[in-house]
Amino acid sequence: MSERVIPLVDQRLKIRPAVVPATPVAASGLLGDTLGRPLRDLRISVTDRCNFRCSYCMPKSIFDKDYPYLPHNALLSFEEITRIARVFVAHGVQKIRLTGGEPLLRKNIEILIEQLAELRTVEGKPLDITLTTNGSLLERKARQLREAGLKRVTVSLDGLDDAVFRAMNDVDFPVADVLRGIDAAHEAGLGPVKINMVVKRGTNDHEILPMARHFKGRGAVLRFIEYMDVGATNGWRMDEVLPSAEVVSRIHDELPLVQLDPSAPGETAERWGYADGSGEIGVISSVTQAFCSDCNRARLSTEGRLYLCLFATEGHDLKHLLRGGASDADLASAVAAIWQGRDDRYSELRASLPPDQGQGARRIEMSYIGG
Ligand code: SAM
Ligand code: SF4
Ligand code: SF4
Repeated sequence: MSERVIPLVDQRLKIRPAVVPATPVAASGLLGDTLGRPLRDLRISVTDRCNFRCSYCMPKSIFDKDYPYLPHNALLSFEEITRIARVFVAHGVQKIRLTGGEPLLRKNIEILIEQLAELRTVEGKPLDITLTTNGSLLERKARQLREAGLKRVTVSLDGLDDAVFRAMNDVDFPVADVLRGIDAAHEAGLGPVKINMVVKRGTNDHEILPMARHFKGRGAVLRFIEYMDVGATNGWRMDEVLPSAEVVSRIHDELPLVQLDPSAPGETAERWGYADGSGEIGVISSVTQAFCSDCNRARLSTEGRLYLCLFATEGHDLKHLLRGGASDADLASAVAAIWQGRDDRYSELRASLPPDQGQGARRIEMSYIGG
């Protein structure tokens, strides 16, 4: 019998302790990295577990019953997350996205949302708090989440056809339950709900038009994401990527579209509106059109490691500072030093990287760091 190999364990070993610089850096909300990019968006992963096994994210062959998920004491507590979030907000973060794994599996997540909702941006405004979910628990939880202070929700949905959806989540989860979750989110006031569809050529690209027809005119924003070479376990191949330009042209042929202005600097989605005014769609072209030049996103892992890029090979350990008696000023200085040293722009470099840094590199998994 062949021995089982778990390449992901490596990702947790490649860490750098976050260091408090000798000269303190006070938070001014004006932090810039080496390319002058500000820090505006923090994505927080609250669990590395999930009840789905999407093949492009947590393939069953690796994420089986023996997979070494993080033990509970390795996870940041809600108080620790809120403390770090406060530091990031002082450095200029305006938007927080909770993700995972499946964030709604984290027990009492609404308590964390309540704590984050109390934070204020440098300008004194409430944060834009949102969450990305597979929707499986949304029908049950939407109202509670809204009451806790969540503003909006993004639901991942890779097709409307029940057989295609069940095959893609690989746990036989019915699409009807997710659709009910989306309705519950609308009713709870978590709209406009964004729907994320990862498009894999030959697997679900025939679902593009049915999805567009279904969500058109319903107040939801459907976004098509190019299948990415994130992580090291999904067996990514370029020929399975359907370029966003083709998604747009397929929809435009039946439902005419006009291009819209971006909603905010650093926005990942290119926006297109239906010519008849009945709503909009978005395309996220992470593979065919890099948007690193204004990438203002930082990612905090479930166990308190800071990643500066979705394709990072190394994380900065903030937990040892948090649990080692560092003051908020120490934390702020450490985060500033890390962000000021950031030069990541993987998507821009993808094609020109040598194999050991490009597709062959061992990188963090999407389920570990979220989207
Ligand atoms: N479990 C939640 C969900 O599925 O919405 C949150 C975490 S999931 C990792 C966040 C997003 O990443 C989802 O929209 C998912 O479709 C997307 N994603 C995961 N692997 C991907 C890949 N290889 N390429 C593109 N998007 C991916
Ligand atoms: Fe789970 Fe989301 Fe990854 Fe699918 S994409 S396996 S739902 S974490
Ligand atoms: Fe940002 Fe990295 Fe993605 Fe570029 S590749 S947009 S730097 S997360």
